Amino acid sequence: MGVYVHFPYCLRKCPYCDFASYPAEPERIEHTQYADAIIAELALRAPFIPEDSTLCTVFFGGGTPSLWEPRELGRTLRAIIGAFSRRAADLEVTVECNPSSLDERRAAELLEQGVNRLSVGLQSLDPARLTFLGRLHDAEGGLAALAAARRAGFVRVSGDLIFGVEGGRPQSAEAAAAEAGRVADAGVTHVSAYGLTIESGTLFGELHRKGRLPVATDDVIVDSFFAIESALAARGLGHYEISNYAVPGDEARHNVGYWRGDDYLGLGCAAVGTLSRPDGPRCA
Ligand code: SF4
Repeated sequence: MGVYVHFPYCLRKCPYCDFASYPAEPERIEHTQYADAIIAELALRAPFIPEDSTLCTVFFGGGTPSLWEPRELGRTLRAIIGAFSRRAADLEVTVECNPSSLDERRAAELLEQGVNRLSVGLQSLDPARLTFLGRLHDAEGGLAALAAARRAGFVRVSGDLIFGVEGGRPQSAEAAAAEAGRVADAGVTHVSAYGLTIESGTLFGELHRKGRLPVATDDVIVDSFFAIESALAARGLGHYEISNYAVPGDEARHNVGYWRGDDYLGLGCAAVGTLSRPDGPRCA
């Protein structure tokens, strides 16, 4: 089974984001207390972990877990590993990162703590679209974060992109494919490409309600989806799930577990999990 840990802090709230995330300066984040809280929650949930479970994946999502002091993230990881009687020899441990909080030193610290996969939120490589999306980094900063992760020793690095962006500089299908291609050419083994969705309760949602948000047409979004698929296929990244592409063998096992319906334990603010119970309903 897998474990998902939610870290709810970000440097700034992106205008499209409806995740449970709160803006905070790194020095104001209660790094140690948050780890203590997760470990306390783990102690309460541990009795419900089936005895014969093997821990296969741990995913630190958010929010921006690359803001978390690596030693506290590592302390949390060791507690999770200790709660299972068995762990997979190739335990996959992923941390979501933003380029604004990932440099070579931070990547090396995460590697030292036992993290072996990074997922970096680039979202775009176009300056105008990055500004529209409210991102804190520029295109060079995004690519530099990927390079820093690889220099630090990470073999499994993923880049996140958002397509179907009309604001800033309207994104054509060709532009979406070119951005995906540049990310793949940066040496990643995995790309996530999500269509921009407008959610209520966000700044974009409010602007959309007032008719003031530029939105891509369905045709552009569909064309972008297939253009990205072709660009990544040409570079050897297979389309293994709606929004995810990987070099064969580098699919995110944690992600695949969600789609297969595997059990996972959720820890932290806003996390959910799905633990089967012996007396619970069974799939046919
Ligand atoms: S960095 Fe990610 S989690 Fe944080 S506000 Fe932006 S989109 Fe949401």
